[in-house]
Amino acid sequence: MILLDGKKTAAEIKEEVALEVRDLKNNGYNAPHLAAIIVGNSGASITYVNAKVKACERVGFESTLIRLPEETTEDELLNEIAVLNVDNDIDGFIVQLPLPKHINEQKVIMAVDPDKDVDGFHPTNVGKMALNLPTFISATPYGILELLERYTIETSGKHVVIIGRSHIVGSPMSILLSQKRKVGNATVTMCHSRTKNLKEITLQADIIVAAIGIPEFLKADMVKDHVTIIDVGITRLADSSKKNGFRLVGDVAFDEVSKKADFITPVPGGVGPMTIAMLLKNTLLACKRKNINENHKS
Ligand code: NAD
Repeated sequence: MILLDGKKTAAEIKEEVALEVRDLKNNGYNAPHLAAIIVGNSGASITYVNAKVKACERVGFESTLIRLPEETTEDELLNEIAVLNVDNDIDGFIVQLPLPKHINEQKVIMAVDPDKDVDGFHPTNVGKMALNLPTFISATPYGILELLERYTIETSGKHVVIIGRSHIVGSPMSILLSQKRKVGNATVTMCHSRTKNLKEITLQADIIVAAIGIPEFLKADMVKDHVTIIDVGITRLADSSKKNGFRLVGDVAFDEVSKKADFITPVPGGVGPMTIAMLLKNTLLACKRKNINENHKS
């Protein structure tokens, strides 16, 4: 069994990004600038957003964190977004999800300028992704593609079973892996909460992407030998033996499934770090596109 080490791979990608940032600066350009808006005080969201900001600093990006109180209205948030959309110093920005219940997430996603939508959630970018056109691929599916590529895991002609149909992971993953692309050309089966006989389907899988959010959902008797496992799930389970009071658990029963797998991602240290690295790559892309546009104008 080979561990798909997302931490190590993400560190390599960040080093590559840092080199490009140095090149940009040496050529007289500004460093890429990522802004993040967070509304409210959810512990997990604050942790994620802080990790993103810290990652920006490490690769030489500029970063701006905009913290808004829980009671921020939808209009106030839309105003913040409008300001970032026209701020030429900001190359890309994200609005950390989930948002408080009184704010319409769809409206917020639609308000972001697609050229600055480094999360790749705007319908324009989702549409381009679905058509296999150049765009910002949302960071988690992009990270999974990158992990599969860097570990040279063959996807062409393989049967990939995806469990979970969220807009941010399962659904784009199913589209990308079935496309004619370097990491793609797979036969994809998309499973979800209404799928019948899930075990019969997962037992046929060469590659399984689990994005469900149920700790240790995928057991050893649900997979065949030599399978590749991508565990996207992250659930915080209370654990008094840990300093922070919780441990992170994936959607895969790692100890038993890893005995049958050829390749498997750990949790933590698998898909999670890749997500942040790919957000940086998208921001770098946004910055380079802006520079090209400005050069054309001048
Ligand atoms: P979600 O929480 O929006 O939806 C869960 C999906 O699981 C749904 O599509 C549902 O149909 C499916 N599902 C639920 N019960 C099922 C069952 N019994 N059988 C089959 N399918 C079932 O999905 P999400 O936002 O993609 O999140 C999934 C997990 O991935 C969560 O733990 C989340 O924290 C994690 N996540 C991790 C990263 C990362 O960077 N590693 C990024 C995004 C999400």
